[in-house]
Amino acid sequence: MVEVLRLYCMDCREWVYDRDSHECPINHWVVADELMIGIADRLYAMGIVPMTAIWTATELGEVKDYEYLLSVKVDISERISEAVLGELPVGWRYYWNTVSPDRSELHMLAYTERWYNFGFDSVVDRVEELIKEFESYLDTRDSEAVKALLLLTTG
Ligand SMILES: [Zn+2]
Repeated sequence: MVEVLRLYCMDCREWVYDRDSHECPINHWVVADELMIGIADRLYAMGIVPMTAIWTATELGEVKDYEYLLSVKVDISERISEAVLGELPVGWRYYWNTVSPDRSELHMLAYTERWYNFGFDSVVDRVEELIKEFESYLDTRDSEAVKALLLLTTG
């Protein structure tokens, strides 16, 4: 399962097919997979601007198509107060720092889980389910309130 990463414009809510003729500013574009568009649109509507919105499924272990490390990651380009979005759903976390030697700053909302394929769902079904759950969570937030809080809490 390979995700297809493309540029998506969150202003126009459509894929950017031609970078030269698409006139919206580049910081309104997100590098994303089709499954992740719903999350990108929802965050953007709240004033949280994602730069990348991706998922990965890395196969682990010896047995084929059985054990996976799943992740869903959204780079939101700047640090926000965690109070703005409130408590994230189980498994989701904010990541502000890397463990890399240069301690470069991260601005990420991410979910990771170790998932076992017992044959009921495919790995992509599971990823879609995780994404839908996060979309539902975002739908419970009040976009205007989030926007207002962001303005108050960021420089
Ligand atoms: Zn556009």
